Amino acid sequence: MKKNDRIFCNCCGMELSRQGGRYEDHLHIVKNWGYLSEQDGIAEEMDICPGCFEQWKRTFAIATEKYPQTELV
Ligand SMILES: [Zn+2]
Repeated sequence: MKKNDRIFCNCCGMELSRQGGRYEDHLHIVKNWGYLSEQDGIAEEMDICPGCFEQWKRTFAIATEKYPQTELV
């Protein structure tokens, strides 16, 4: 969640650190719910810190796929 030029993890509420104008790497999701979904026409946005993301993944029935990036940002 971005608030006044600061980003907070939606899950734990912790403020993400920032170094040299860049925020700590984290999960940023923007979901535009589609036609005929229960949230038709709603856009939803969230920021998840690395710690919460790791905990969240442990609840998944199927592990995420990991592979080397071809282009580093
Ligand atoms: Zn968090």
